[in-house]
Amino acid sequence: MQRLTALLAGTLSMLAGTLALLATTLGHADAETLYQPTAEPVTDSVYAIIGPTDARTYENHGMNANYGVIVTDEGVILIDSGPGAFSGPNIERAVAAVSDQPIRWVINIGVQDHRWLGNDYFKKQGAEVIAFEATVESQKAFADQHMEGRLPEALGERFEGTQPAYADRLLEGDTASITLGGTELELSLTNAHFPGDAMAYLPQSDVVFTGDLVYVDRLLGIHPWSNPKNGLEAFARLDAIDPDHVVPGHGRVSDMERARRDSGDYYDFLVNTIGEAARNFEAMSEVMNAHQDMEQFKHLEHYDSWHGTNMNRTFILFEGM
Ligand SMILES: [Zn+2]
Repeated sequence: MQRLTALLAGTLSMLAGTLALLATTLGHADAETLYQPTAEPVTDSVYAIIGPTDARTYENHGMNANYGVIVTDEGVILIDSGPGAFSGPNIERAVAAVSDQPIRWVINIGVQDHRWLGNDYFKKQGAEVIAFEATVESQKAFADQHMEGRLPEALGERFEGTQPAYADRLLEGDTASITLGGTELELSLTNAHFPGDAMAYLPQSDVVFTGDLVYVDRLLGIHPWSNPKNGLEAFARLDAIDPDHVVPGHGRVSDMERARRDSGDYYDFLVNTIGEAARNFEAMSEVMNAHQDMEQFKHLEHYDSWHGTNMNRTFILFEGM
């Protein structure tokens, strides 16, 4: 009996210990791991929300990408709406810290999940969502995949209440110019990372929000649906604009020199070295081995995990051309 009591007491104290540990862990998650994005100034009236360059996590609630905040005389323009319902109020707080005006427009320049799944939230707050027809078409094509993919997996209950919603105003063709409160935006499709991706140029402040056309600090990812050839062409158009400020899709606010070094030169390498080798019927394994070590791009995060895949997918794309 004594032994049984001792055993029971031991089990209970172990259980208590486990509960205490669990409580500490949960308390910690609540208090310290809620990522609050901030809008950092690019120019007087243009801000960028620069997300972490790591993966979508519960802690960053899927905001591992960059967003734009443009303050005009007639309200705020948000570039991309974030990953869903949970991030919506966090983005609103970031905007409220730099402007007391309402978010009037949300412009979708991207098709990747964390660029547009927040549309529904901002529409409910009264914003008008604007996008190219091609962007919306592509968002619709990817919606099921995004609603079941890595984002809900990473976010758990923080994904609840998120549902796909699409632009209220559709822009035809592949370029468009729109103005709110005296601030002009020139939009153009890039079709690089995802079909239907776009970039936004603000001529008055000489800023380009490139969307996922440009990554700095981390290596571009070529997905099966990405098109590095379109990327190279769109980068040439960005080069022609030659803006003072580049807000990339991922990574810090930059100038053209960094954008070229971290992305433009990489498109050039993919298309003109790997793509060219594929068109010349060279052996894929030999080409890949010969270019596995690219000193020039090794400073970029995710180089080890993405570079081989990027070459592989580019080779396959160009083989068929
Ligand atoms: Zn992205």
